Amino acid sequence: MSNPDVIVVGAGIIGAACALELQSLGRKVLLVDEHHPGAGVTAAGMGHLVALDETDDELDLCMLSLARWDSYLSRKGGIAEHAQCGTLWVAEDEAQMAHAVARAERLAQRGWSASLLSGAELARLEPSLRKGMAGGVRVARDSAVFPPAVARELTEQLVAKGGSTLFGVPVLRIGSNGVQLSSGERLSAADVVVAAGTGVTRLLPDIPVFPRKGHLAITDRYPGRLSHQLVSMGYGQTEAGSDALAVAANVQPRATGQWLIGSCRQDGIEHADVDPRVLAQLLRSAIDLLPCLAEMRILRSWTGMRPATRDGRPIIGRHPALDHVWLAAGHEGLGVTTAFGTAQLLADLMLGRPPCINAGVYSPSRFTHAYV
Ligand SMILES: Cc1cc2nc3c(=O)[nH]c(=O)nc-3n(C[C@H](O)[C@H](O)[C@H](O)COP(=O)(O)OP(=O)(O)OC[C@H]3O[C@@H](n4cnc5c(N)ncnc54)[C@H](O)[C@@H]3O)c2cc1C
Repeated sequence: MSNPDVIVVGAGIIGAACALELQSLGRKVLLVDEHHPGAGVTAAGMGHLVALDETDDELDLCMLSLARWDSYLSRKGGIAEHAQCGTLWVAEDEAQMAHAVARAERLAQRGWSASLLSGAELARLEPSLRKGMAGGVRVARDSAVFPPAVARELTEQLVAKGGSTLFGVPVLRIGSNGVQLSSGERLSAADVVVAAGTGVTRLLPDIPVFPRKGHLAITDRYPGRLSHQLVSMGYGQTEAGSDALAVAANVQPRATGQWLIGSCRQDGIEHADVDPRVLAQLLRSAIDLLPCLAEMRILRSWTGMRPATRDGRPIIGRHPALDHVWLAAGHEGLGVTTAFGTAQLLADLMLGRPPCINAGVYSPSRFTHAYV
């Protein structure tokens, strides 16, 4: 390709979605990755497409993105093991039930159908759940995908629309007029989008994205025993920390009949090894919710590093000091869900259109006050 208009660094689900969005809007895009599409944390996570509502801004980004996911999945029927499983948020006691009521109201207000369930209704829907739960919320429109397959498909669409790709090549430096590859070669473009996941801070040291480790495990095939993604209402309410391990049961039925088990968060750990003690704690919390898991065979376990930020919000927008450098990163545990919304918001900002949602909360300048 002759000089592209935009170089996107990182072909995870975020970079692939941004690249395709910009190409579709008439910019000539080159997508670069040191590995291949979807090889980063996009390959490690659960792929739960879920409306999260810790803040109104988070819910706005989820709603924007989930609407785009709906249209993508309806055009690409059957892609990426998509399963319309919905979410069951499980409340173990009355305190969690109060949160469940609030969640059901907030989601229903946005038209994202959410119904409150009694303990008995919950047990009828998912008989494998431990008896005696207080109740929960059923969010029927949430679903699950296999994220690296989506990153690959978006990249194929990019190429079909005239964009280009360069894989297996690390980017060493980012500049206002392009990038320098590890080979020393320089590639020029009017704009650069950095969507390098946990690799962002290596490229742009003033943008703090740090790894938040998660462990996952998958069972053998047990078809027909679980219908919904089950998540404890405690999910998101415990803080990760360097010496603290935050665990909340999160179990996803895969199209294969396997159960994918998460979810825990640990900060301050750089290595990707499976820690047997952490894995044991993760499994104990899942077994506490679903006792039959104790009899099921675990086939494999692995870890992934969520690209996290200090304030829990992704970084989307213009770099505060480098002209023509843009960021789309730091999506922590929600980057699959929010990929399409991120791409739309970034394109609005790059093309000078009014942003479709409040962009200020995602601005990279919040970390670099020296430049403001
Ligand atoms: C345990 C776990 C469970 C999760 N579950 C969910 C879930 O259920 N739902 C959800 O929405 N999200 C979930 N996530 C989060 C989600 O996976 C991430 O937010 C998302 O994948 C981030 O995508 P990304 O494109 O920013 O990063 P990545 O996928 O890591 O992509 C970054 C890319 O940049 C490339 N790169 C980095 N540095 C360079 C360089 N110098 N030169 C060239 N290329 C470079 C890498 O090779 C990589 O391909 C989960 C994450 C984990 C760990």
